[in-house]
Amino acid sequence: MKIESIQLKHISIPLKKTFKTALRTVDSAEDTVVLIHTDDGYTGFGEAPPTKAITGETNESIRAAIRDYIAPAVTGADVTNLEAVQEKLQNCIEGNFSAKAAVDMAVYDLLTKSMGVPLYKYLGGYRNKVETDITISINEPEEMEADAVSACRKGFSALKLKVGIDAEKDVERVRRIRNAVGDRMKIRLDANQGWEVDEAIRTIRKIEDMGLDIELVEQPVKARDFEGMKKVKDNVNTVIMADESLFSPQDALKLLQMQAADLLNIKLMKCGGIYNALRITAIAETYGVECMLGSMLESKISLTAAAHLAAAKRIITRVDLDAAILLAEDPVSGGFHKEVPWFYLDESPGLGITDVIGMKDI
Ligand code: MG
Repeated sequence: MKIESIQLKHISIPLKKTFKTALRTVDSAEDTVVLIHTDDGYTGFGEAPPTKAITGETNESIRAAIRDYIAPAVTGADVTNLEAVQEKLQNCIEGNFSAKAAVDMAVYDLLTKSMGVPLYKYLGGYRNKVETDITISINEPEEMEADAVSACRKGFSALKLKVGIDAEKDVERVRRIRNAVGDRMKIRLDANQGWEVDEAIRTIRKIEDMGLDIELVEQPVKARDFEGMKKVKDNVNTVIMADESLFSPQDALKLLQMQAADLLNIKLMKCGGIYNALRITAIAETYGVECMLGSMLESKISLTAAAHLAAAKRIITRVDLDAAILLAEDPVSGGFHKEVPWFYLDESPGLGITDVIGMKDI
């Protein structure tokens, strides 16, 4: 099963509602789709979204990295020699993790198709379903409350509130939403690096003092400020999760050696795909630290790859793959089957994706 060619396409999917965080505002997913064709007639599917505010990548950079560096490096390689393919893929260019992730997942799709097994079984097969939380974009407190109540009615059991623009108002956001949704709903906060260190400590302590019962706070401070993250963790009772601080397995090791985070949020687009995500889960498991599997604004192609990984690994105990629910359309046939808030995987080999409609040539 040798890689014969890599084809790049564009996919555009509108969002049901504008997505707003402390870092960016987005109205549609505009992603690069990767199709890897093999000499024996198989096609593997992959996808990368441009998330320049987080990974520094644009569609142009993703496509150039694949076309000019990754494709020449892996063409002709046999996907059943996974380690050799990954050596070429991960080392042909520095950085460009989303571009690498798109190719990595297509390689795993092909490898497990060749074996006739679903990807999650190959990766560990711990479960065949995962439950996602739902993100509430950062808006005025009243609007966020209405969105939270609506999510509650749809059957979600965990909300992820985007905060981090105005600490005073953030406390008000959490207070209103906790009052509106009741005690049983899990509430996670994601500040997307929006707070200063002391501000984060003050704000989280205030939320604790008000008894608002927050499950975790994601990325309270700047991505590269590991010391600041540790200071926040050491000065609050609430669980702190690293997201933008964690790209590589090396980041995971450093964060855990420093005891700077209680939980890790793994995203395929930050770490370069499933191969490196598995290295992060191994480190986390060694330290006894649980992981979340998150995503960017992605379509069901790469979300299915993430769902397979999350289902496969015991140490991945939280799932934030709600992009599938935030998008207004689903052009992907096959992949996971969605019954909100659950995503189910079946026994189809590989990712189980059979077709993607509406892709444009680039
Ligand atoms: Mg986050």
